[in-house]
Amino acid sequence: MNLHEYQSKQLFADYGIPVPRGIPAESAGAAVKAAEEIGGDLWVVKAQVHAGGRGKAGGVKLARTLEEVREYADAMLGIQLVTHQSGPEGLPVNVVYVEEGSEIDRELYLSMLVDREVGRISFIASAAGGMDIEKVAAETPEQIFSVAIAPDAGLQDYQARQLAFGLELDKKQMRQFGDLIKKLYQLYLDSDASLIEVNPLITTKAGDILALDGKINIDGSALFRQPEIAALRDTSQEDEAERDAAEHDLNYVSLNSFYRMTRWPQFW
Ligand code: ADP
Ligand code: MG
Repeated sequence: MNLHEYQSKQLFADYGIPVPRGIPAESAGAAVKAAEEIGGDLWVVKAQVHAGGRGKAGGVKLARTLEEVREYADAMLGIQLVTHQSGPEGLPVNVVYVEEGSEIDRELYLSMLVDREVGRISFIASAAGGMDIEKVAAETPEQIFSVAIAPDAGLQDYQARQLAFGLELDKKQMRQFGDLIKKLYQLYLDSDASLIEVNPLITTKAGDILALDGKINIDGSALFRQPEIAALRDTSQEDEAERDAAEHDLNYVSLNSFYRMTRWPQFW
């Protein structure tokens, strides 16, 4: 089962993982109110769909005034957003996430998944994160590296350092990062996740680490013991067969969404 970005980030925040402040909104008016509540003078309006590639498809817009927040929310809400991961029909935008704009220094890639080849949970990381990660994977895969975690030992400090070095972090960022991935690993275990992806994980101009995007997939077979997470299911993002299956407690993923879920960078 997929979670939306705003739901994933709420879980991140619950675990003390740093994220920008944000509020979901279902109308343009609510989006403006959200921006007012967040304050500042730079916001990002983000379409909430179960597909990545929103930035390149017009589903992530930087707004410098409340009027722009209204305009972008109004333009996104109610449409089918087509991204390179959504399939040709796109996915309905029923919610936008209004977020404070961050001052980005570098965009990094970080994810966790079960690496079936080694039978372990692995971190996948790259200093070349952001919207072109698929190109990086295709053309310069040596820029992407992974660290597998032994289940009995858990995440070790030296592995956190290995990842931090690979991401070219400075000393202060390394400390923040070490803390962040411990929390991420715990969240992965606690929530029965099959994938957690943070792309981009950023370093800010002030030198801090922040999860700027968030994607969590939960193992459908474990939902029976994750009632709080199961309640976050958004059937508007699923196709009819998946909705039917869920109603009958079947763990079924249609080939369309399987394709969506298993494409890089969500899965190897
Ligand atoms: P997607 O992966 O679906 O394209 P992201 O959330 O990764 O969506 O956003 C795409 C890009 O938009 C990011 O790589 C980043 O450059 C920019 N962006 C996203 N959120 C913010 C934010 N809160 N502040 C500043 N820039 C942002
Ligand atoms: Mg992203």
